[in-house]
Order: sequence, then C-alpha cells, then structure tokens
Amino acid sequence: MAQIIDGKAVSAAIKEQVRDEIARDNIKAGLAVVIVGNDPASRVYVNNKKKACEFCGIQSFEYALPEETSMQELLELIDTLNNDKNVNGILVQLPLPKQLDEKAVIERISPQKDVDAFHETNVGKIMIGNYSFLPCTPAGCMELIHSTGISVSGKECVVIGRSNIVGKPMAMLLLHENGTVTICHSRTKDLAEVCRRADILVAAVGKPNFVTADMVKEGAIVIDVGINRLENGKLCGDVKFDEVSEKAGWITPVPGGVGPMTIAVLMKNTLTAAKLQNKT
Ligand code: NDP
Repeated sequence: MAQIIDGKAVSAAIKEQVRDEIARDNIKAGLAVVIVGNDPASRVYVNNKKKACEFCGIQSFEYALPEETSMQELLELIDTLNNDKNVNGILVQLPLPKQLDEKAVIERISPQKDVDAFHETNVGKIMIGNYSFLPCTPAGCMELIHSTGISVSGKECVVIGRSNIVGKPMAMLLLHENGTVTICHSRTKDLAEVCRRADILVAAVGKPNFVTADMVKEGAIVIDVGINRLENGKLCGDVKFDEVSEKAGWITPVPGGVGPMTIAVLMKNTLTAAKLQNKT
C-alpha cells in the first residue's frame, strides 16, 4: 500500500517559511491577481490565493473585471501594475474570455513580476536552468517528490502531458535534477508500457481515472496533477487512486495533493519577486 504524500502539510510548511521570512526581515510584498469574467472555478482559485496572501503577510490586490473587458483595457491595467511599486507579482487568472489573447496578455506582464513564470523570458530561463521563478504547479510537484526523501537523480521519470504550464516545465525540472525523462502525449504509442518504466510518474492529462494500476510500476512515486470535476460534483484526479495506491510506493491524493502546492509556490515566488525588486 502506497504512502500518501500530504500536499496540505508540505504546502503549509512552505507558506509558514514564507510568512516567517517576511515577518523576520520586514519585507513588503504585494501580489496583484486579475480575474476577468465569472468562471466559478477561477473565483475559487482567486479566493484561495487571497487567503494564502493574508496568511503569509503579502498584500493582495484584486482586480475583478467584467466578462466583456477589451484587450486594450486589460493591457492598460497590466501596464499600470507593471509600474506600481507596491505590486511585486502579477497573476492573470486563466482561462480568459474568448475575445482576449492569452499569449499577448502574458507577454505584457513584466518578466520580473511574472510570478506564474509563463512569460517567454522566464520559460527560456527555466530551459537553461537559470531562473528566478519556477512555474507554480511543476515546482509544487518537485517539492512533493522531495518530501519523499527519494532522489530524482538517475530515476526513470515519465510525464503524461506536454502543456506549456504543466507537462513541459515539469519534464525540464526533473531533467535539471538528473532524471531520465520521457514526455508522453495523445500520440504516444504503447502508453501503458512507457508508464510502467517510471520510477516517478507524473499525470497531467485532465482525464478522470486515466492512469490505472496496469500502467504503474510496483513502488513508483505517482504524482497526480489532474483536477477533474465529476458529474456528482466531486473532484477527482487523473489517477485511479484506489487501485494505483495498492501498487505505488508513494501517491498524491486529489484533493490535498498538488493543488495546495501550486498556491504555496506562488507565495514563494511573490516573496522572491519582492526581494529581487527591493534590491534594485
Ligand atoms: P492540457 O489539456 O493543456 O494538456 C493535457 C495533455 O494531456 C496534453 O499534452 C495531451 O496531449 C495529453 N493527453 C490528452 N489525452 C491523452 C491520452 N489519451 N494519452 C496521453 N496523453 C494525453 O492540460 P493542462 O496541462 O493544463 O492540465 C492537465 C491537468 O492538470 C488538468 O486536469 C488540469 O485541471 C490540471 N491542473 C492542475 C493544477 C493544479 O494546481 N493542481 C494546475 C494546472 C493544471 P496532446 O498535447 O497530444 O494533446
């Protein structure tokens, strides 16, 4: 039976570290969160980010814009935030309504304030291993892997999913720690066979119960990034938890695994941004 990796506990420890450093060094840090429209899931995420800021002693600035906001209005707000000394980090909650160009919005955020690490400049820095911010979800997954005490070095790592926000950066972070990394996607042949090679398996597919026990090596670390809402309203991951937990060595639950880590790393990134900006 797998040991459960407790994302709530690991994320709480990170937020406490951030809070303690801010209090100890009297650091002034601010995070602006921009939400456009009325997506209920986005609203929940934004509220959780606000709560985490309060806990850590980070000032939070929330900008809730109407669904019909134009590109020009949104870019003007980002320009204002880029120039606001009280704002160290800027996060635009995705997805955005259809009329808005997400890529252009992300590129408008100053790379120094891009605490999501989605800007091309930061993506490039992650690629070469010279970064200030790590993307929140993959960095959170790395923290969970570290919490097992098992080293990534030399391990077979398989990431299912190749999105810019999860799969690709996840693979890069595992590579930076000397994992032997395979990235799988919808065109991968013999997916189960590839996954069975993994000492560390990361699922970022967005399909409920996609990873079954026959895809998992005995004793593997299984990190479930998926957040899927079932018809009955319950949240479930990409991994069929009941059967995979019988076979894996370590497993993250959903909820209570990767989800809380994303926000904890966001707090860490905001503190890093504040420290870097206060230096200049
Ligand atoms: P995307 O939809 O952008 O990417 C999904 C990936 O899964 C794609 O690369 C796709 O391949 C691959 N895929 C789809 N079907 C298959 C298949 N049958 N076999 C193999 N690969 C497949 O999703 P995201 O990366 O944005 O998110 C993934 C999941 O993680 C979602 O459930 C999301 O809600 C969750 N998430 C959770 C976060 C958290 O804080 N815990 C944060 C961000 C996301 P292809 O490229 O070929 O289409």
